[in-house]
Amino acid sequence: MSDKKIIIAIDGYSSSGKSTMARRLAAEIGYRYIDSGAMYRAVTLYALEHDMIDAEGNIDLEALRTALPSISIDFRPMPDGTQHTLLDGRDVETEIRQLRVSDNVSPIAAVKEVRAALTDMQRTLGRDKGIVMDGRDIGTTVFPQAELKIFVNASAEMRARRRFIEMSDKGEPVNYEEVLANVVRRDHIDETREESPLRRADDAIDLDNSNMTIDEQNAWLDKQYKRVINGE
Ligand code: C5P
Repeated sequence: MSDKKIIIAIDGYSSSGKSTMARRLAAEIGYRYIDSGAMYRAVTLYALEHDMIDAEGNIDLEALRTALPSISIDFRPMPDGTQHTLLDGRDVETEIRQLRVSDNVSPIAAVKEVRAALTDMQRTLGRDKGIVMDGRDIGTTVFPQAELKIFVNASAEMRARRRFIEMSDKGEPVNYEEVLANVVRRDHIDETREESPLRRADDAIDLDNSNMTIDEQNAWLDKQYKRVINGE
């Protein structure tokens, strides 16, 4: 392990396997892992629980903007090496992964003030480097100076299949078509929003993992990390 600490930004499409690879690399090299998507999901859960999103998906922007400064988001490390997201001190890890949150998160993440507040928190978390953060705009907006930037992609069908299996394994009653529709819809909103749209940073390295095993993907990422750390 090297003494040199860097920032590693892993961006990409929904359910592209970013979190799995980011979490594993962070554990391997002793870095902090931050799932920035979980932070957007936590704000979305907050908005749902406080009736700031109506049945048509319209957001009460004024109420959300007013509440934002007082919403607290944190992470709790778990004995198995994973971490759970805390919303105002409450463990919401299960709720934020449910479809009702997935269905509403992209419009919430398109709100300028939400992005500003979360970007600030993310920069604070990365102040001392030694961090792996995954998301949509980490290499472009949050840490444009990150020493290693990866942009992950895989076909929408492949990503939906992975997400479907993950959710089914957790016992969530979902169907594949619904999950695929959510993935495609989120991609579209994330790519076309005005504030920090999902975009590959010019200096990011592409990874299409459609046909890769998790081991192959991890080995690829280790190689990228070592290359940067060794100054190659
Ligand atoms: O990564 P995950 O799929 O959990 O992210 C949920 C949603 O949060 C994304 O679809 C996107 O709308 C939003 N997001 C974002 N910027 C980030 C991370 C997530 O806009 N850095």
